[in-house]
Amino acid sequence: MNIVMFGPPAAGKGTQAKLLTAQRGLIQLSTGDMLRAARTSGSDLGKKVAGIMDRGDLVSDEIVIALIEEQLDINKGAPGFIFDGFPRTVEQAKALDTSLELRDQKVDGVIRLCVDDNVLLARIEKRFKEEGRKDDNPESFKIRLGNYHEQTAPLLPFYAAQGKLTEVDGLAEIDTVASAIDQILDMQKSDIKKTAKPWWKRIFGG
Ligand code: AMP
Repeated sequence: MNIVMFGPPAAGKGTQAKLLTAQRGLIQLSTGDMLRAARTSGSDLGKKVAGIMDRGDLVSDEIVIALIEEQLDINKGAPGFIFDGFPRTVEQAKALDTSLELRDQKVDGVIRLCVDDNVLLARIEKRFKEEGRKDDNPESFKIRLGNYHEQTAPLLPFYAAQGKLTEVDGLAEIDTVASAIDQILDMQKSDIKKTAKPWWKRIFGG
């Protein structure tokens, strides 16, 4: 089962993705974490993206798509993936569909965490004070939020048109959000079972 955890920065995507990893054995693929790891390692990629990330801008589609494809190959045979912070543009979403199709997989569902912008600004102010993440400073965060509305939100109609989008109130307590997601995934799992073709049809067609 492959799930896209969707929402603006600081909506709680990473927290929920980690819970699902623990409960369902799905693998969390966070492009933000991968890019931060590249920076910490001091690699060429890390140096290339550092300024862009600190400003709060998006790194190129090419870079993040390559990171995701690499992980899909490394984790072949995994029970499924939770995409966290990816895709963030329509181009990325289309590339993800193609990459999964090439591996006989697809995006099974998209969970949108709905959180009001003002709540996000308050949350991030607190996180900036506690953790000091450079791109959480008020100027960068406004750019990140702006990029979300301009470049990422257009994915909502893209996934809604495919009947894959479900919305969850991201303002609720972490446990409440988690159990809402749990219910959605259980329903999706039974839908996948109902629609899955038997192995002989997958091999011989029909
Ligand atoms: P995140 O931790 O997901 O908020 O990501 C932190 C930063 O990494 C973002 O503000 C972007 O600069 C970069 N980034 C992460 N994921 C993507 C993506 N899918 N596309 C472009 N840039 C990304």
